Amino acid sequence: MRVANYYGPGDLRVESVAEPDLGADDVRIEIAACGICGTDLHEYEDGPDLIPGEGDNHPLTGVSLPIPLGHEFSGTVTAVGNDVTGVEVGDAVTVNPAMVCGDCRYCDEGRHNLCESVANVGLSAESGGFADAAVVPAANVVQLPESVPVEYGALVEPFSVGVHATRRSGMQTGDSIAVFGAGPIGISIVQAARAAGATEVFVSEPRAKRREIAESVGATTTLDPTATDAVEAITDATDGGVDVAFEAVGIEPTFKAAIEATKRGGQITCVGISDDDVGLTPNELVVVERTINGSNGYLSGPLADREFEMVTSFLESGEFDPEPMITARIDLADIVEDGLEELLDPESEHVKILVEP
Ligand SMILES: [Zn+2]
Ligand SMILES: [Zn+2]
Repeated sequence: MRVANYYGPGDLRVESVAEPDLGADDVRIEIAACGICGTDLHEYEDGPDLIPGEGDNHPLTGVSLPIPLGHEFSGTVTAVGNDVTGVEVGDAVTVNPAMVCGDCRYCDEGRHNLCESVANVGLSAESGGFADAAVVPAANVVQLPESVPVEYGALVEPFSVGVHATRRSGMQTGDSIAVFGAGPIGISIVQAARAAGATEVFVSEPRAKRREIAESVGATTTLDPTATDAVEAITDATDGGVDVAFEAVGIEPTFKAAIEATKRGGQITCVGISDDDVGLTPNELVVVERTINGSNGYLSGPLADREFEMVTSFLESGEFDPEPMITARIDLADIVEDGLEELLDPESEHVKILVEP
């Protein structure tokens, strides 16, 4: 079988490898589609970050370089281990890629997505989704409803990030929201917030194609922050700011804008993964009683199917539409040139590229 192995920054190789062993608790999945994520781009450009570094073994899974890449995937089950129940050959499934230790403080507290030794399929495990097939623990598998095309299962992971962020924000039905950044996660948040009853949905995004997609899935106003003052436009239209803002980029200008576009007493939820210094004065929170929190991935461990199944039911009901986000479908052999390099191009019009082996 073929797999895209990560060797280091700028070095991803599609190679022929032996089938991974199928453990008693594992399932083998023939992959239908795997989405390229911002995380993959970051690892390819500046990694390894979540991927173990040169000479390191991951503390939970023990894997070391090269590592198979790809964590947003779906497919059909072709084999199940001896102890597996509840998953059968022929099932259409998606995968919650997070693997947790089960005994750190955060796993004990039921907050498995904060696990101190978390590993992920496609970043720090034996298998990845940019491949013909993957072997994953049955506990990480989530069934797809029959009416949902199996390739859409590759979007369940990024949609789950949007669902988790919306739930973390405490957004209420009828609220106005603003989303800064309309990449796959920003667009997923737009859909999740609409499904949760957001009325006015502002999206600030410099790329025209992404604004267009945001509008097609429920944004009521889109703004180009390079042409207009997005904060001013939002505060004018909402009598002082939205109820909830989401930061889905992770840079200082969007971080500041998300805070300034939020009403007094409002909520800012940050999803953009970043080590940037974003500069903040206490009174942007204190005298106006704004609240900021972070949102990391989605529920995992024993709750691995919780938010993933919310997404699959929204896909089934049609409330979530992945199609506008999918801007290309490419072959595994072309993953570097037509996938990663294409998405890294700042002029790129792409949002989500699916690798279909
Ligand atoms: Zn991802
Ligand atoms: Zn843990």
